Amino acid sequence: MVEVRGVRKSFGDVEVLHGVDLDVHAGEVATILGPSGSGKSTLLRTINHLERPDAGIVRVDGELMGYRRVGDRLHELKERAVLRQRARIGFVFQNFHLFPHLTAVENVAEAPVGALRRPRAEARREAAALLARVGLGDRLDAYPRQLSGGQQQRVAIARALGLSPRVLLFDEPTSALDPELVGEVLTTIRDLALGGTTMIVVTHEVGFAREIADTVVFMDRGHVVEQGPPAEVLDRPDHPRTRAFLAQVR
Ligand code: ADP
Ligand code: MG
Repeated sequence: MVEVRGVRKSFGDVEVLHGVDLDVHAGEVATILGPSGSGKSTLLRTINHLERPDAGIVRVDGELMGYRRVGDRLHELKERAVLRQRARIGFVFQNFHLFPHLTAVENVAEAPVGALRRPRAEARREAAALLARVGLGDRLDAYPRQLSGGQQQRVAIARALGLSPRVLLFDEPTSALDPELVGEVLTTIRDLALGGTTMIVVTHEVGFAREIADTVVFMDRGHVVEQGPPAEVLDRPDHPRTRAFLAQVR
């Protein structure tokens, strides 16, 4: 479902991804661990082409992100075509990124109405169903400021589901939350994982990463240094950097 090959990315003259390869199969969950600054967010943003790779390619569900192949050359897609590709990749940010002036149900219905031109009444009905699925069926008309951080993040997850994504990307979805609110968001993500949604989750919650992941990916300084089943990467890490990181967070 997600295929990353040889992706390099620099900001200015500093290269922060040094040729990353990653495969996530349909229905699988990959969790990405690694120290701050190792390139986890940049990798996620490259997958949905919020960042354009300097080299390498990303395919999502067989579709080349940001490019079209003509003969043996790649041509960049127009912004509108990139937006259409990106619409099928759900992205959940650390800081929720909800529209403050829209209610929960309006936040979730916004993209289906705006991007897919769905009739508003129908989009609202579906948004209400998605909010019920994340346990917020009774808060449809609440504004973000009236919701706790955990509730806001669950609205953001419902919103990401609204465009029937092929894959969901989570960038440290619980790290902006007070500790007592982490559990409800992890439970929501766990339910999606059990439901067979393809997901890539950047997280510092090692226990959670172990529990939901089919594959754990460990990144350090712009490299994937290790990837494999949780029991291998977390219990028998090959790489000294993985060992050092795990010793610190445990
Ligand atoms: P992580 O998510 O693992 O903490 P990031 O992908 O956010 O790491 O960052 C990797 C490196 O790239 C860091 O050194 C960071 O400062 C740098 N970086 C990320 N985004 C930008 C940007 N837009 N401009 C310049 N440097 C950036
Ligand atoms: Mg990050």
